[in-house]
Amino acid sequence: MSQGKIVKVSGPLVVASGMESADMFDVVRVGDLGLIGEIIEMRGDMASIQVYEETAGIGPGAPVVSTGAQLSVELGPGLIETMYDGIQRPLEAMREKAGANITRGISVPSLNREKKWEFVPAVKPGDLVEAGDIIGTVQETVVVQQKIMVPYGVAGTVESIENGSFTVEDVVCRVKKDDGTVASLTMMQKWPVRKGRPYKEKLVPEMPLITGQRVIDTLFPIAKGGVAAIPGPFGSGKTVTQHQLAKWADADIVVYIGCGERGNEMTDVLMEFPELKDPRSGESLMKRTVLIANTSDMPVAAREASIYTGITIAEYFRDMGYSVALMADSTSRWAEALREMSGRLEEMPGEEGYPAYLGSRLAQFYERAGRTISLGKEGRMGALSAIGAVSPPGGDISEPVSQATLRIVKVFWCLDSSLAYKRHFPAINWLQSYSLYVDRLTKWYEDHVSGDFPKLRQEAIMLLQEEAELDEIVQLVGVDALSYEDRMKLEVSKSIREDYLHQNSFHEVDTYTSLNKQFKMLKLILGYYELAKEAVTKGAPFGKLTSLPVREAIGRFKYIEEDRIEAAYEETMGRLRSEIADLISEEAENDDERI
Ligand code: ADP
Repeated sequence: MSQGKIVKVSGPLVVASGMESADMFDVVRVGDLGLIGEIIEMRGDMASIQVYEETAGIGPGAPVVSTGAQLSVELGPGLIETMYDGIQRPLEAMREKAGANITRGISVPSLNREKKWEFVPAVKPGDLVEAGDIIGTVQETVVVQQKIMVPYGVAGTVESIENGSFTVEDVVCRVKKDDGTVASLTMMQKWPVRKGRPYKEKLVPEMPLITGQRVIDTLFPIAKGGVAAIPGPFGSGKTVTQHQLAKWADADIVVYIGCGERGNEMTDVLMEFPELKDPRSGESLMKRTVLIANTSDMPVAAREASIYTGITIAEYFRDMGYSVALMADSTSRWAEALREMSGRLEEMPGEEGYPAYLGSRLAQFYERAGRTISLGKEGRMGALSAIGAVSPPGGDISEPVSQATLRIVKVFWCLDSSLAYKRHFPAINWLQSYSLYVDRLTKWYEDHVSGDFPKLRQEAIMLLQEEAELDEIVQLVGVDALSYEDRMKLEVSKSIREDYLHQNSFHEVDTYTSLNKQFKMLKLILGYYELAKEAVTKGAPFGKLTSLPVREAIGRFKYIEEDRIEAAYEETMGRLRSEIADLISEEAENDDERI
């Protein structure tokens, strides 16, 4: 342990001398109150410390003690349903201990020490185990079973294994290592937050994270283990979109990191999340959620740590073989914390005052996402998908944080306030958004949805792009100047937008659309296009074609329950064919009469 003295305090930054035996990233206790800090720079015996609590009243001469340990999180039963701050202190337990106004320097363990968990062993004495192997399970909530894994660095023969009710500190398994020593394993392990948890292998992202949101799954899909960014101009539906993803994405675990600027932004999440119902289980969504909340009474520095705390917890569940969805809202606030600390360290500022390492720090964070095979004899496939919200000032994404993020992420869902203003939800702009996973996912969609799906997707995108071009012409010369072919394109694009992309999160059925239903809906809309195009060439009147009664049914198809899809699809397709055929023959008869 290294003890030094404060020489300077500048907001959340404290500089201490006499710290020569401390290391970079050591956790330190600052001042008589023992505020929690982390060493972020070492120069000779001088350590620059980022303090995660309010430093008022702390001055030069006060003691600084290094704990010799890196900033770490506790991983084990008790994580789910808990709300933590940026350095994994449980908010509720702290409130109970210290009242509503968090007193500085208090320590409350991250995982409850008293609670007993039912441990069910999965190995027996004599079994050989290595890091990553599962020694037992704990049913943590009704929906989440935690798998207790052999920690990194331990391998050997199981000497004893318990069965029953234990706290996270009780020894549940003893492993005799090859060197003859015995490792006593509890249900809890620790991991330094700034280091990615190890895995055996990283896999290519080739399956989608299905979300049930049509604009996402069809047009701009994210892969399982993929990374996406979503900007959030105020009122554009960012909160609703994130809630939809948390509820519906095929993830077993949700980790939500909230870095709000103002206090009330954070309370929104804290209040709303527990109220969300998990459509899978009918329980509260919190039963498979870990929340990290940077409350407004904590200094900015804690935000900087929070995304690492969150992603380490997410990796832990990934290692159990789960699909984890991590949401960070917003990474812009995190970057601001980085900028503030960099300024206080008097580093050379880069663009708009952000440090030059902004991009590499963001990359380090997003790189921890992925689909992986875990350590252990029978490696489990897990996935950590990361979705970062950015909140550019004034909604202008040319600023450094958005730009640095866009260089890293592979999916961009561009929320557009003008669409929200027109009440087109989700307000994801189809011309500006993109997904670089589309090519890799094509095969999956072909194998699991339909060989035609990628083709239909492509056709829909083309039509939407052509619509934008045609719109410009229409504004100049009016719609009548267009050929019937082009006017039909406009008709169908409108249908794609209104009947397909528009999706009401608050409608019981429309809130989630299976991939099969998405495919059928697209097939109806584009099927209409094919048939109507052909009918125009055969002389069917344009006005009658666009007002066919079946179009109403196509428009309302999104409200049909999943179990009635097949029958409804056959029926609607049949109607579509016969209505168009009738129109063509009617026209032919008229022609005959005229002759
Ligand atoms: P933000 O978080 O970007 O400020 P919200 O997510 O709170 O915006 O959305 C603002 C409002 O827009 C919501 O209260 C809701 O009425 C509407 N809205 C957003 N997304 C949808 C959606 N997918 N379906 C229906 N309404 C939506």
